[in-house]
Amino acid sequence: MMKKGKLIIISAPSGCGKSTIINEIIKNHDLKLEFSISATTREPRRGEKNGVNYYFMSVDEFKNAISNDELIEYEEVYPGRYYGTPRSEIDRIRNKGRNVILDIDVMGGINVKRKFGDDALSIFIQPPSIDTLRQRLNSRGTDSPEAIDQRVEKAGFEIAQSDRFDKIVVNDRLDVAVRETEDLIKSFINK
Ligand code: 5GP
Repeated sequence: MMKKGKLIIISAPSGCGKSTIINEIIKNHDLKLEFSISATTREPRRGEKNGVNYYFMSVDEFKNAISNDELIEYEEVYPGRYYGTPRSEIDRIRNKGRNVILDIDVMGGINVKRKFGDDALSIFIQPPSIDTLRQRLNSRGTDSPEAIDQRVEKAGFEIAQSDRFDKIVVNDRLDVAVRETEDLIKSFINK
């Protein structure tokens, strides 16, 4: 029988380059990674597509998914904005023998690792400093000043959770962080 795929959890405070790192490592076909598409109640950003970046849902649809036990975890990542991992995504990808890559918040990452144990590798992407993080969020230009303050404050709490992850990668130089992350995944899936 074909071997079931494993789970690679990537968590980080917002603005640490997590999505960029994920987009890079997904291109490495040897790692057989496939992105787990989350459900969310937030509005799509420009260029985002339903069923590609997220499954965009109303709060009612999201609540239905929770009561039907369709999500393996969910968090209110920002006030009023829910994000969750559909069980169907994990099963669909693993049953093909491919490895699931999850871009989820820090508490979600800890919860998924607890659920899947040795089948999961949890990686925490850390910014070099809080100042660098604020600069990156500013230059990204997708968030209001209030939202940036909110994200920076949250980052302090999240960095304090980093020792609950299997591995930590500091994203100072992107190419180095990508290579480090790839190496960690490689040794985990070949174990
Ligand atoms: P964004 O709104 O910038 O796309 O995502 C905000 C945060 O929500 C990011 O930290 C992202 O990793 C997290 N997130 C995305 N999907 C999920 C999910 O399914 N579960 C949890 N717990 N967090 C998620």
